[in-house]
Amino acid sequence: MSNLPDEAFRDTIGTIDEGGNRKFIFPKKPSGKFYNYRKIVSYVLLTILIVNPFIKVNGNQFMMFNILERRFNIFGFPFWPQDFYLFVISILVGVVFIILFTVVFGRIFCGWICPQTIFLEMVFRRIEYWIDGDRGAQSRLARQEWNAEKIRKRVVKWTIFFLISFGIANVFLAYLVGSDALFLMVEQGPVKQASNFIALLIFTGVFYFVFVWFREQVCIIACPYGRLQGVLLDNKSINVAYDFVRGEKENGRAKFNKKEDRALTGKGDCIDCLQCVHVCPMGIDIRNGTQLECTNCTACIDECDHIMESVGLPKGLIRYASEDEIAKKEPFKFTARMKGYTAVLFILLSIFVGMLFLRTNVQAVVLRLPGQLFQHKGDKISNVYTYKIVNKTMKDYNDIHFELIDQKGEIRNVGKQHFKVPKEGISQGTLFIEINEVLLESDKTKVKIGVYNGNELLETTNTNFLGPRSFN
Ligand code: SF4
Ligand code: SF4
Repeated sequence: MSNLPDEAFRDTIGTIDEGGNRKFIFPKKPSGKFYNYRKIVSYVLLTILIVNPFIKVNGNQFMMFNILERRFNIFGFPFWPQDFYLFVISILVGVVFIILFTVVFGRIFCGWICPQTIFLEMVFRRIEYWIDGDRGAQSRLARQEWNAEKIRKRVVKWTIFFLISFGIANVFLAYLVGSDALFLMVEQGPVKQASNFIALLIFTGVFYFVFVWFREQVCIIACPYGRLQGVLLDNKSINVAYDFVRGEKENGRAKFNKKEDRALTGKGDCIDCLQCVHVCPMGIDIRNGTQLECTNCTACIDECDHIMESVGLPKGLIRYASEDEIAKKEPFKFTARMKGYTAVLFILLSIFVGMLFLRTNVQAVVLRLPGQLFQHKGDKISNVYTYKIVNKTMKDYNDIHFELIDQKGEIRNVGKQHFKVPKEGISQGTLFIEINEVLLESDKTKVKIGVYNGNELLETTNTNFLGPRSFN
């Protein structure tokens, strides 16, 4: 990297001027192979993101993150506060997955999957190109005075941006409070559903602010994942990278001259056309090496490939490559660190899948009433318990009752012997367990209780049954 013209980029951010003011980026409209692939991936992901909260599986919303009511649905599985351990493991799996991916593939998540990038680059920016034109026209429009053309273009653009922000806010709300609550708000109107409506307006305002003004600053300033790059990436991570060996050669980059043979002059393949800089939505120069701002969006790969093609040089001067691949010509290797992360990921995934299968739709807890001793009832011993049954499903259970398993005896519920637990509801109460004294083998017997709906065994739970000490 010795041929770099200056090192000023280390002390500055491309989007902030010397006075500390925001410098707006007007990136050139990208085009090329990677951009086309990204469009396909983006629109598939956008479709999934938008329809997800409106899909139901067995009556459960496919994806929901209702933080206020502490109810989460992931892939149609409802997670209650009682399932919090599963939620934590799923988050851990997600984090390890992203770390592993970052170690191996750099910021591929930012460029291809992150909703912020997808909305900004594939929705808002494309509308901007359509209304305001490409880089030059956008920059001219920003500088020009407020004449009829500018007012018209700004009103049209900001109105469309507001409507899209409002749409995104609706989807976001559907993830947060559930699509049913969203439809209820639409049906009942903003007055009856004031809190959801205010939340909707706040989210709309936040999205509008982010996509109209804040933009790439989210990745540079606000996103914690971007900040992690410094510790996750190493020389073996694959990134969007400038091949400085080829680009600079012995005598550095230089403007293109049709009449000279660059191979003979010792000049690098970079013709210093700055197109990779102009197309960059983060306002950086990839030729300065991997930088915190780079979201690996691939726009500079496409742009440089166009240039290389036009001057008759091989494509790939900017490409997906690791530092070692470029500097030492080392092919990609699955390093010990990558193997370690993969092993951890595999173990966590196995635990998560196992727990998911062991998880039941109904959770029952039966506990002895604190401070209560057993009672003699003729030849029977009786203990009193409290119970709590959580129905995590979207269907009512109308014939719930308890039965002892592997133990002769009787369970008497205080109130109705057969009762109802509504969908997503909880039922709690008091019950007595009575066991004939001669059947007890110790003063503390473990009993297994089955929770049935009709003849269907939904869940089992264990508790202790106390008896006289003489059994010892
Ligand atoms: S687009 Fe390619 S040739 Fe042009 S300045 Fe960037 S790296 Fe050099
Ligand atoms: S340097 Fe290239 S890959 Fe990185 S953000 Fe800029 S255009 Fe995208």
